[in-house]
Amino acid sequence: TELRVSDFEKIRVLGHGNGGTVHRVRHRRSAAVYALKVVRADPLLRRQAYREIDILRRASDCNHVVRLHSVITTPSGDVSFLLEHMDGGSLDALLRRRGSRPFPESALASIARQALLGLAELHSRQIVHRDIKPANLLINSVGVVKIADFGVGKVLRRSLDPCDSYVGTCAYMSPERFDPASHGGDYDPYAADVWSLGLAVLELHRGHFPLLPEGAQPDWAALMVAICLGGAIGTVAEGAASGEFREFIECCLQKESGKRWSVADLLGHPFVARADGAESERALRELVRENSVES
Ligand code: ATP
Ligand code: MG
Repeated sequence: TELRVSDFEKIRVLGHGNGGTVHRVRHRRSAAVYALKVVRADPLLRRQAYREIDILRRASDCNHVVRLHSVITTPSGDVSFLLEHMDGGSLDALLRRRGSRPFPESALASIARQALLGLAELHSRQIVHRDIKPANLLINSVGVVKIADFGVGKVLRRSLDPCDSYVGTCAYMSPERFDPASHGGDYDPYAADVWSLGLAVLELHRGHFPLLPEGAQPDWAALMVAICLGGAIGTVAEGAASGEFREFIECCLQKESGKRWSVADLLGHPFVARADGAESERALRELVRENSVES
């Protein structure tokens, strides 16, 4: 039997996006909890929603991509995604609940490793995300991190298909995507996801967006200057972190995409490899518990 939106009780709003609203819902009959992302009937948004559904279905067996259980349409044309509920919310909300206190390195190692595993799963299916940032990385109370929000994701037909440069959140875009020479899309989209992930991890380490002074609103001009001219982008001050962490960030934030490490290389980096153990997983679970979402 087909599911309807009325089969679910809305518990509370989890987040708002460009496309619509995400609710925490409970299935009335089974009492199972899900996240329901409702996208309005607007034709453009619907086209984007169906692209996102296509990607989520291709990635349905990925351990570090949020699971899509089903799609519910209404006669009015709304499209709703019934998603696995990630009860720790987004990493960006988790940072805010901590009052912007930086995440400990041990927890960051586990986050970086799991997000890289997610990117590896996606990239091996020719899927690029193109909007990696803390708000699109979700976590649950078990300490599992998953990639969400494929609103601007893309399935590449050839391994190096041209990509539209200006999609996603400009603050997390890699330098080559700002480059007028690659306006036609002549850049490596896989390497661009790595840049964004490096920036996201660095943000959680600093407690604020790392390319601009604390509190500054990212705008195009300021970012161009910071990324293209700025010298000390993304470098972590000595003493502020372990050598391994600083090196890891540098490998992700190489300005020249050709020098940037690949996802596979980064999974072998000592900072991430050491997270393949109980300690950093425990640190991450602890962090979620200390800052848990109020019900
Ligand atoms: P954007 O403006 O980023 O494009 P969007 O409309 O595409 O937003 P999402 O990014 O998918 O929507 O979700 C918005 C927010 O809702 C997320 O940042 C997160 O806080 C929350 N959210 C989304 N999906 C889930 C989920 N499965 N479990 C828990 N929270 C979720
Ligand atoms: Mg989002």
